[in-house]
Amino acid sequence: MSCPICKKETVERYRPFCSKRCADIDLGKWFGGDYAVPSEDPEEAVEAMEELEQQASRLH
Ligand SMILES: [Zn+2]
Repeated sequence: MSCPICKKETVERYRPFCSKRCADIDLGKWFGGDYAVPSEDPEEAVEAMEELEQQASRLH
């Protein structure tokens, strides 16, 4: 089984992720998708998503 964020081996403590960092990124994705995107402040939502994508890409 591999981490859904960065595809490294998972660590039992953080399953299904390899680290707390990846777990946090995944949580941020859900949070961003479900919570921040609706119309209140679209620019801020886009910035938040870009930040998450940058965090994810640094792990590769
Ligand atoms: Zn990972």
